Parts: sequence; C-alpha cells; structure tokens
Amino acid sequence: MAPGAVPVHLGAMGASSVHVIGAGPAGLMAAERLARAGAAVTVHEAMPSAARKFLMAGRGGLNLTHSEPLEAFTGRYGEAAPLVAGWLERFSPTHLIGWAEGLGQPVFTGSSGRVFPRAMKASPLLRAWLARLAELGVEVRTRSRWTDRRDGGWLFSTPQGERVERPDAVVLALGGASWPRLGPDGGWREGLEAAGVVTAPFRPSNVGFDVAWSGVFAERFAGQPLKPVALTFGETSVRGEAMVTRYGIEGGAVYALSAALRDAIERDGTATLAVDLRPDLTIAALAERLTRPRGKDSVSNWLRKAAGLSPVAVGLLREIPGELPAGADKLARRIKAVRLTLTGVQGLARAISSAGGVRLEAVDERLMLKALPGVFVAGEMLDWEAPTGGYLLQASMASGVVAAEGALDWLARDGRTGA
Ligand SMILES: Cc1cc2nc3c(=O)[nH]c(=O)nc-3n(C[C@H](O)[C@H](O)[C@H](O)COP(=O)(O)OP(=O)(O)OC[C@H]3O[C@@H](n4cnc5c(N)ncnc54)[C@H](O)[C@@H]3O)c2cc1C
Repeated sequence: MAPGAVPVHLGAMGASSVHVIGAGPAGLMAAERLARAGAAVTVHEAMPSAARKFLMAGRGGLNLTHSEPLEAFTGRYGEAAPLVAGWLERFSPTHLIGWAEGLGQPVFTGSSGRVFPRAMKASPLLRAWLARLAELGVEVRTRSRWTDRRDGGWLFSTPQGERVERPDAVVLALGGASWPRLGPDGGWREGLEAAGVVTAPFRPSNVGFDVAWSGVFAERFAGQPLKPVALTFGETSVRGEAMVTRYGIEGGAVYALSAALRDAIERDGTATLAVDLRPDLTIAALAERLTRPRGKDSVSNWLRKAAGLSPVAVGLLREIPGELPAGADKLARRIKAVRLTLTGVQGLARAISSAGGVRLEAVDERLMLKALPGVFVAGEMLDWEAPTGGYLLQASMASGVVAAEGALDWLARDGRTGA
C-alpha cells in the first residue's frame, strides 16, 4: 500500500485487494488511483512487459490529448459522448496534462491543437509511471494472462502454471482488438459473453482504406503524403494529411472520417471520398491560375507550376479514369474534388484502434459490469470510438479513473462478498 494512504475496507483481512487485468494506459491509471486510495493492487499483463501498445503509440509522436474546448472534445466520441463526458469530468485534458507533468514529462501543444510530451515518445513517461506505481506498492505481474473464471475465482495462465485469484474487486482493462501482436487481441470477448456480458463484434477504427490504384501510381507514390488536403465524405469535411499506400490511403484526415467510411463500405460495398488538393484556394482563384498558358510544359509540369500541386497530387488527379476536364473552371473544380472510390477497409491488425467490445449498456455509471458485480471495465475494451488526436488515450485513462473510483465506492458500500 502507498505510504501514508488510508486503506479502503479495513477489516480482519486488511486492505481490500483489487486486481487490474491489462497493463495498458487504462489499467495502469486505474491501478494508480486504487493504490493511492490504499487498496492492495496487483496488475496482470499477458505480455512480457507492460503497455506495449502505448509504447507503439509513441512511435510517431505520443498524442496524449487535445487542447480544444471540452464541448468540441466531447463531441468526438459520437454516440458515446454523453457517457464519455462524465469520464472527462473526472479526468479532463487539464488533469491529464498535470499528471504527465507530475511524472516529469512537460507537454506542448502543436499547431493542430494536439498535445504531446516534449520528449514525443512514450517510453520516458511509462518508465516514470511504472516507478511511481512500484512506490505506491502496486505489483505488476507480466506473463500473467487471464483465461477464465473458475468457481468464482479468476484463472491466470503464468509461466509457473495456472493460478486462481480471489480479489475483492477486479478492474478489466484488456484493450480492444487492434494491433493484436502488441497484446490486445480481444480474446477476452468470448469469456465475458459466457458470463452474460453483452458485447459487440470488434471493427477496425482509425484505419486505412483500399483504393484500386494503377500499378504505376502505387509503385511511384506509395509512402508519399498528400498535404494539405481537405477530405469530404457526406456532410463532413476534414483538413489534414493523407498518406498514399500500396493498398490505398491512410493518415490523420482519413482516420477522422474512418468510422463513417467504414460503415458506408460495410453497407454499400464502396464509398466515395472527395479529395480537395488545394484547400487554401477557392475554385475561382485556382481557375485564375489555370488560365496560365501551358507553353512547352508537359501537362503534369504545367499542373505542378500553375496549380501548385505536388507530384503525388498530380498523379492522383491522373488516376481518375478519362481525360482531365478542359477549361480552367472545370479543371479547378476537379482539383478541388477528386472523387476517390474506396473499395474496402483494412483489417484490425493495423488499425490504430477498434470499435466494439463491452456494450455501454452492460455497465453502470461506475463502469461496473451489470452481469458481474464487483467487476469494472475501462479503456478501449468498451464499445466507443473516436478519431486520432489524443482522444483515445484521454478516454482510456479517464475511464481508468472512473472504474477505479467505482471499485472503491463499491468496496466501501457493497463489496462484502468479493468479485
Ligand atoms: C500505431 C498506434 C498509434 C497510436 N497513437 C495514439 C496517439 O498518439 N494518441 C492516442 O490517444 N492514442 C493512440 N493510439 C491508441 C492507443 O494506444 C490506445 O487507444 C490505448 O493504448 C488503449 O488503452 P487500453 O489500456 O484501453 O488498452 P491497451 O493499451 O490495448 O492495453 C490492454 C492491455 O491488456 C493486455 N491484455 C489483453 N488481454 C489480456 C489477458 N487476457 N490477460 C492479461 N492481459 C491482457 C494487453 O496485452 C495490453 O497490454 C495509437 C495506437 C496505435 C496502434
């Protein structure tokens, strides 16, 4: 227990024992809250080390949260917004920033409003966090995989064999099903369903889409960014960056639309994305530039110079079957709305996150499973989704706080019989 902490549920057996299963950001945050409140906390992690997906999130710059006003922030969670709003009241972006700084990781806000640790990586933050948890008395058991429930206990597979644990309460923070090789493989779903917990199938979120590029285009431009672009699907437009890949298209602006695009492809087989290759210019301003004579330039060179397009942007324009439209106005309109047909959704293996998991109606406001009193759920294993931009880590950690506080409340009031 943490030095000086007041133990919850002191009785003949001492402090309440809470086992947190899953050592990602949601589980570790729950463990920290529980230990600070005086619970005896054990964290189980199936992998040989903690928080592998969190470390991977830091590879391209760890986007911890976002600086936009809370109302806009909350709106990023779609249907889950009302629930997530409650989590963010308990642990807001300001709290998260204070927490990171408390671990010796000052942050900065990028021009997009996204918040990053100055170190950019996750590893210094994770190191300091695990050291703090050790000081608080949290025991982290790696290679300890929860496999089943047996006679009311929790069965773990460990290198020393099977082990049954009977803690007073449990926080499940097992993650979703994206990047399964980092640990979150969604293997828990069947076991919880069997225990009467309603779940939704996993679906890729923040994911790339297939486009039937010509061989020449894929060969020449895979790995090149289209930036800045504005992407429009239905009523929603997003400015940012998209990356051409061999299979199709990915990147921040694509991810922001990925839930709606995925749903449309699942429903209709394809989806049409409009790409504005010159979002800073109006059609009239672009048309004006395109009145410039071509002279001896090839069409591609002329487009590059007159419209200020990158080679990959010109390549994309030329991927659309048929001739380029004649006349400055028509051409300007095409450049500002290249219609790309998306033919498929990439899989969970490389999706940044997943939708699906424990349905929100399966938990109460303390994030306790209605079917399993004393068992709380946090993080990406709950059925919510949000675009990239720091929204995933923010909600994962905030739900870890809510689940921990829920467990403490339950232990104080009802938790006599154990989870
Ligand atoms: C490439 C990439 C970049 C990303 N970048 C960002 C970013 O910049 N900003 C952002 O907000 N989000 C980002 N994310 C998403 C973010 O990493 C996740 O949303 C977040 O890690 C979810 O936290 P979690 O604790 O709920 O789950 P996880 O981090 O998935 O942790 C769950 C843990 O549970 C363990 N586990 C699973 N089953 C068992 C079991 N049966 N027994 C024991 N342990 C088990 C897993 O091994 C895992 O360690 C990124 C993700 C990826 C893949």
